Amino acid sequence: MINQTPQKIVIPATIRVKDLAQILDLPTPRVIKELIQNDIYVTINEEIDQETAAVIAEDLGYEAVFQSKQKTNSEAKAPIPKKKKEKGEKVSGKLGPRPPVVTVMGHVDHGKTTFLDYLRKTDTISQESGGITQHIGAYQVKHNGQVITFIDTPGHEAFKAMRERGAHLTDIAILVIAADDGVQPQTKEAIKHIHKAKIPLIVALNKIDKPEAKPDKVKQELASVNIQIEEWGGKTPLQEISAKTGQGVDELLDLILLIAEMEKLKAPLKQPVFGTVIESHLSSQRGPEATILIQSGTLRIGDLVTAASINGKIKRMEDYQDKMIKRAGPSTPVKIIGFSEIPPVGSLVQTTAKHSKKTNKTRNQKEREVLNQINKKALNPKIKKLNLIIKTDTHGSREAILENLAKLKSKKVAAYIVSEGTGRITESDVIKSHITNSKLIGFRVEPSTVATKLAKQLGVEIHTYQVIYELTDSIKKGLLEMLKPQIKIKEIAKLEVLAIFRTEKDRMIVGGRVTQGIVETNSKIRVKRGGELLGEGVLGELQSAKQKVGKVKAGQEAGIRFIGEIRIEVGDILEFYKVEKEKQTL
Ligand code: GDP
Repeated sequence: MINQTPQKIVIPATIRVKDLAQILDLPTPRVIKELIQNDIYVTINEEIDQETAAVIAEDLGYEAVFQSKQKTNSEAKAPIPKKKKEKGEKVSGKLGPRPPVVTVMGHVDHGKTTFLDYLRKTDTISQESGGITQHIGAYQVKHNGQVITFIDTPGHEAFKAMRERGAHLTDIAILVIAADDGVQPQTKEAIKHIHKAKIPLIVALNKIDKPEAKPDKVKQELASVNIQIEEWGGKTPLQEISAKTGQGVDELLDLILLIAEMEKLKAPLKQPVFGTVIESHLSSQRGPEATILIQSGTLRIGDLVTAASINGKIKRMEDYQDKMIKRAGPSTPVKIIGFSEIPPVGSLVQTTAKHSKKTNKTRNQKEREVLNQINKKALNPKIKKLNLIIKTDTHGSREAILENLAKLKSKKVAAYIVSEGTGRITESDVIKSHITNSKLIGFRVEPSTVATKLAKQLGVEIHTYQVIYELTDSIKKGLLEMLKPQIKIKEIAKLEVLAIFRTEKDRMIVGGRVTQGIVETNSKIRVKRGGELLGEGVLGELQSAKQKVGKVKAGQEAGIRFIGEIRIEVGDILEFYKVEKEKQTL
């Protein structure tokens, strides 16, 4: 450390390396050296962002304060005692409230589009300005003075695509069910997705205006698919609505705001910015266009961004009403122009201090191949992913860790490296981990004070290791935890019941002929009558010619002690099966 008593310095939104050196009262090469140690390759006249500058200043023994209107220079320059610094008084990483992001799901024809159109016509902010809006995949509604962001992507595909990438884009899901049609296959599919995404669900029981509407019947159906509604003592709120007449829609919006309030939704308001591409296409006049949902930070015109290795500089930014805007904060959908190519839907967008070519310069061919080898596996949508962000002390350790990860083999789960690099764990790493739901790992590096504080606020866990095998073991453990023990049902035999010998309360002794396969002890039994399943039981004892045996083949007669409460009758078919647990390995 150069300064024994940390001095507060004020850092603007962006700063040239030269100017930072001046504020720090250090020779520029010293600052550049520190930047290089943090894997940032810049020249003296280049600008770096606030957060990077703060990390560097901190490393050099200063206390960094982000520039804000309230702080005067004299205040900021006043030295503060070390004790205070340890308490962590920094303003960076400050979280601010953000609007909820809502997705509408449900079976086809149940009224999703009608509902979204109704909102767009009546409640969207566009109505206030009288604008006719173009579809950008998301829009905002103002209700009781509060903003709600609706993601308006067709069907469940986009939602699924985002989830497959591990992104948590939405805060609340609205499940639209037509009251005259009830729970249908896509309703069940939507419930599955919502459960997996672990987000709160509100049921919108739509078409309540129709005479054929049967709300009670639908509520019953919901109970049968394990959705316990509040009205019946459960936890899921349900609102009866008509997307056609607007009945109940205000109450539904009230419910959304209520849930949003309980969830205490917050996000960092400053740079760096993270977001997700929700729509993208090539415009013949304007080039690549992307609608992104900002999830963290405030995006501004002129910002440098990257998404899926595609670079861009924000030339133009429009809100969902096609109005030009200069900045946009968390939970805002914006259309941006400035990408060099079309970024894929679902990719993570982030601001960067510089579009460095360091990836190609500092990573050798082998390292790139290893990284591709790891991430290629995770491209398969059927494979469950464990998202990782890895920071290491040196290129050497990074290489060794990646090589170890490339050796992990499984057809069902895979590690996916969201980002990796050398240098300490920064605020950006924490936000990225929060947004992409990644395990944040440091190898022989520690988080910065700002990063630690932010991680606490966002509930992000930081895992640090000193030994490579401990790191890979913990990733392996994480992957194994994602693998549920595979249960396999093996059908082994069928028997037709020809006689009933004894009937007790929870058991019976019956006789019959094995018609298929080989009956074995330790099997389970399904009892079927006229093709219908009556119930199940287990095989207590197996006999052949009054002798206790282990197996009886097809064509032979067998005596069965059936344990179960079903009353078997002559003519019933007993199906024997075994439940096998398939061993899960990597
Ligand atoms: P989506 O496939 O879920 O987007 O369903 P749509 O919004 O396209 O609606 C399917 C049909 O149901 C359309 O003919 C709508 O006019 C009609 N519909 C939607 N909501 C309501 C409603 O609340 N009441 C009535 N009566 N009809 C509705």
